Amino acid sequence: MDSFDNFQYDSASSYGGIGIVDDTSSVYTTNTQGDVPVDLERLSVLDDPTHTPSSMENDLELQSTNGSITEDFDAVLDDLKEEGQVDLPPHACCYCGIHNPASVVKCLVCSKWFCNSRGNTSASHIVNHLVRAKHKEVILHAESPLGETTPECYNCGSKNVFMLGFIPAKSDTVVVLLCRQPCAAISKDISWNAALWAPLIDDRSFLSWLVKPPSETEQLRSRQISFQQINRLEDLWRENAKATLEDLEKPGVDDEPQSILLRYEDAYQYQNIFGPLVKIEADYDKRLKESQTQTDITVRWDLGLNQKRVAWFVLPKLESGEVRLAAGDELRMRYTGEIHKGWEGVGHVIKVPNNVSDEIGLELRRTEGVPHDVTQGFAADFVWKSTSFDRMQLAMKTFAVDEKSVSGYIYHKLLGHELEPQVLRTQMPKRFSAPGLPELNHSQMYAVKSVLQKPISLIQGPPGTGKTVTSASIVYHLAKMNPGQVLVCAPSNVAVDQLTEKIHATGLKVVRLTAKSREALDSSVAFLTLHHQVANNTTARRTPEAYPVEE
Ligand SMILES: [Zn+2]
Ligand SMILES: [Zn+2]
Ligand SMILES: [Zn+2]
Repeated sequence: MDSFDNFQYDSASSYGGIGIVDDTSSVYTTNTQGDVPVDLERLSVLDDPTHTPSSMENDLELQSTNGSITEDFDAVLDDLKEEGQVDLPPHACCYCGIHNPASVVKCLVCSKWFCNSRGNTSASHIVNHLVRAKHKEVILHAESPLGETTPECYNCGSKNVFMLGFIPAKSDTVVVLLCRQPCAAISKDISWNAALWAPLIDDRSFLSWLVKPPSETEQLRSRQISFQQINRLEDLWRENAKATLEDLEKPGVDDEPQSILLRYEDAYQYQNIFGPLVKIEADYDKRLKESQTQTDITVRWDLGLNQKRVAWFVLPKLESGEVRLAAGDELRMRYTGEIHKGWEGVGHVIKVPNNVSDEIGLELRRTEGVPHDVTQGFAADFVWKSTSFDRMQLAMKTFAVDEKSVSGYIYHKLLGHELEPQVLRTQMPKRFSAPGLPELNHSQMYAVKSVLQKPISLIQGPPGTGKTVTSASIVYHLAKMNPGQVLVCAPSNVAVDQLTEKIHATGLKVVRLTAKSREALDSSVAFLTLHHQVANNTTARRTPEAYPVEE
């Protein structure tokens, strides 16, 4: 891959020394100082950890700090082992072992205890756990100052701690707990002032009057657990709820996958290393999606204009920001109640919560058998789709068994082999800016020029540097320079829509391809979709010049 790594981040001035990488886009561009030609000798610099751009220095420091934390932690663990197994009470923090009843709370979902200290992390242990595990209800210790109580909304009974807050009542020894939405917003009670509402979790820990932060001495004597160890422990709990920190040490638990290389012998070795990594990523994504199931959903049934059943309901997890949902996503609805016989059906989201309503609209694929006479006792599962991961695995397999699946140049380039730079003999356009798009600046123009002369390129840059406009200009020139069409891919539907819009602005004939499940959804480029154009038959006889699709 060509990289414009002579495009140095100007870390001191423009970006405040922070390395910003916008990894949601596949094409990047950034500022350049002077017209330095890209030479292949410099390619490996990006991958070479000793040649880190200055903007990465902060990260490096961070890594070495983490290293020493791990060592400290190992030393503490060794001490503990030498002292023999230390018996902690059942209410000890599952991360650090702190067990002062005033400083710990129990998670009501998994029945594990956590303390309200931050230790080495930016959030307190209990908040870390609730966020990582996507749990949200807790109970205080019986011997804590407030006794064995579960914080819940005075009005509606919601126990979601991420939504709960308090309002000091007029008599100043009492506080009222109310959820932010809807109860605090609609509260008209004269004995308290809803404008004084403040959340129970502030700066990623519980308010100290609710759960006392452990003293410094207690914190020093506790297990020093790093953020990485917390993450690994939470991952382990998904498979084995009884796992402890010590289990992280056991062989097999944390088998590191093979490291990636700068150069690969052949495509087999490449697949051997990347295959397991993609599998790990897929497994993680699947676990995350499947742990999002919500029960006790109340449904409002509706019939769409297309005569399809639409289920309207609210997902509390969405309010707390634990789950992300986009129009077009698939959900499985199940009936779990007693009144009607069991039922399940898959549908796609046609409306997500907005500032008008918190409701989600789910259009069911099949109308038959939908229990639309009952409204309560439903559950929703997120349907995980392996498509994108399957495609990655298939592409790597094809790459491994068929040398001719890509051009010789790209084959060796992907494997990191030394290659003579290849310059395509093309007639360069007189102007690099494309009609209908903003004028390109110097670095954008340089990027367009370089890309047009090379078989494969990587453009990178922070958000806001005009990667989409640069990409659209490249597509415009490619379409004008070569006979045939240009296939445009991006890693998300949003990114494809944005590219489609920009390419359309240049006056090229564009066809936006979408998944069948997304055809019903509205977007800014709906009129450019294949199904739309076929239906209106206005462009059927014209050959499109660009086909943007989601990767
Ligand atoms: Zn703790
Ligand atoms: Zn929990
Ligand atoms: Zn409430």
